[in-house]
Amino acid sequence: MRASVLVDIGRLELRDVPFPELRPADVLIRVNAVGLCGTDFHIFAGHSNYNTDERGAVIPLSKQPQILGHEIVGIVEEAGPQAKGVSAGDRVVLDQGLNCLSANRDPVCEYCATGDSHQCAFYSEHGITGLPGGLAEFLAIPAVNAIKITTDIGDAEAALTEPLGCILHSSNMASRSRSRYSLKAEAPDDRIRSVMVCGAGPAGLLFVQYLRNVAGYDGLLMVSEPNKKKRDLAARFGAEAIDPVSEDVVSAVSDLTAGRRADYLIEATGSGKVLSIIPQLIRKQATVLLYGHGHAGVDMSALNSIMFLEPTLVASVGASGSFDHDGRPVTYRRALGLLEEGKIQVGPFITNRYTQLEAVPGAFHGDSSSPEYIKGVVLP
Ligand SMILES: [Zn+2]
Ligand SMILES: [Zn+2]
Repeated sequence: MRASVLVDIGRLELRDVPFPELRPADVLIRVNAVGLCGTDFHIFAGHSNYNTDERGAVIPLSKQPQILGHEIVGIVEEAGPQAKGVSAGDRVVLDQGLNCLSANRDPVCEYCATGDSHQCAFYSEHGITGLPGGLAEFLAIPAVNAIKITTDIGDAEAALTEPLGCILHSSNMASRSRSRYSLKAEAPDDRIRSVMVCGAGPAGLLFVQYLRNVAGYDGLLMVSEPNKKKRDLAARFGAEAIDPVSEDVVSAVSDLTAGRRADYLIEATGSGKVLSIIPQLIRKQATVLLYGHGHAGVDMSALNSIMFLEPTLVASVGASGSFDHDGRPVTYRRALGLLEEGKIQVGPFITNRYTQLEAVPGAFHGDSSSPEYIKGVVLP
């Protein structure tokens, strides 16, 4: 079968690769859609590589090429004899992460047992940690990692279940944290009155909609984003959009909050420069959700000024969370449901649709740096 293979940093090749092997509890998926995500671009550019050996040392792409793609929608082509809950012909969204239930391990590890399957002690991820991803014709995955789609939601839209799942999971981590301010606090003084979202890429745009349409937050919601197209969408979804190029973000936030600054800041850029101005954007003992990864270009002393304000720092990664009654990840189901109900809209920011695997290198090489690009989905 054909696959788009990352054979080295910056080098994607269309190759013939062995057909996936179907184990008894697996389903064989014919790929319909794959969302391209920041993580893919980081791996492509050589900024990160999550394929490591038992000792945690990175295995270079030149030694073990990677088929990228972890935001996957497809059709069940064949179900193994022990596969439960889905059958041939079903359209499904995949949880790319293999946990204890995926491996039918008994007893499950301490993380799977406490609803944090994305931190499973035996975790591995299709499209990220060396296991083949969705940028291929087919993929074999345990049936418990496949969630049936029962509505007529588009393939491209459904592919955003995983990124939305990450937003739900991190927001849940923030609300579970012991913080001075929270969204649902009883006492008005403890309630979050100003939220700052740094960055309106797909993540920032999902956070804005989550806060407005799911969490029911109706207070001040500010977003800083240099790209006009993204800024306009953030405004359309209910945020006060700030252009950090033409405006001084620190003064803008100070003005909008009457000097109070943000009670809750969501860092969704992964930019070191943004990290370094967080102390000027937040209130003392605010909550800071560190969602974006990367933060290159600043030294660790940027943390000093953040620490001085004693914020609750919440770091999160992944989406799967706890298991539903049938072993499927609750967070993915909830995310898919929100997309199907239209509570969260992703259509307006899926800017690039690629209908062939041949087009994948173009997405990585040029398109993603265009000012018109927000989110690309491959529909092979
Ligand atoms: Zn992703
Ligand atoms: Zn586990």
